[in-house]
Amino acid sequence: MTKLAPTAEAEVRDVIFVDLGEGYETKKGPRKGEIWWKRQPRARYECLPCQYASPVVHGVDEVRAFITDIRTRHRAICPGHPGIAQSTAA
Ligand SMILES: [Zn+2]
Repeated sequence: MTKLAPTAEAEVRDVIFVDLGEGYETKKGPRKGEIWWKRQPRARYECLPCQYASPVVHGVDEVRAFITDIRTRHRAICPGHPGIAQSTAA
């Protein structure tokens, strides 16, 4: 595996925190494949340029939907994202 060296241009602008939770999958019987959650998955998002912090999202389906597009949705409205000034100026 190649390890990439950090560059001077690298910059963290936003972060998605994901806790995968803790669950037990039923291996046999009519409920095979079901997961009993001791702690549901959860996620949240933070944008550093505008200091936005999302509410915490809980649940398998909710977390999946959240992490799929939160970054794109937020960048479309973020006052600290460079694309905003260009797109609104046109
Ligand atoms: Zn932002």
